[in-house]
Amino acid sequence: MKKEIICTICPMGCHITVEGENDTVTSITGNTCKRGEQYASTEFAHPVRILTSTIKTDCEKHPLVAVRSEKPVPKEKMMECMDEIRKCRAATPIHVYDVLIENVCGTGINIVATGSVE
Ligand code: SF4
Repeated sequence: MKKEIICTICPMGCHITVEGENDTVTSITGNTCKRGEQYASTEFAHPVRILTSTIKTDCEKHPLVAVRSEKPVPKEKMMECMDEIRKCRAATPIHVYDVLIENVCGTGINIVATGSVE
């Protein structure tokens, strides 16, 4: 299998071609540096993303607070994690980096606030 990937690590945006089967990478071409090679390898075998969203609060004046995952979440778990985030309602006060959902969907990753609500 061949996959074309645009590296998003830096503004160069190199077009990288990765070849392999399932989780095994056999060739990576088009990258300009080692970081791109690592990025492309991960994107091919096990793509992950930082999840950003909002969570409802119990405050009438500020009904939503911005959140993100502490670490990148496996791409295939994104929708499941969003469902859990949608169901959550956080109690105020909320401060930046407060953990609002622990171990979201069993990923071992926490959802933290990136804003605050007093
Ligand atoms: S491969 Fe290297 S130079 Fe190219 S976009 Fe990725 S990080 Fe930047």
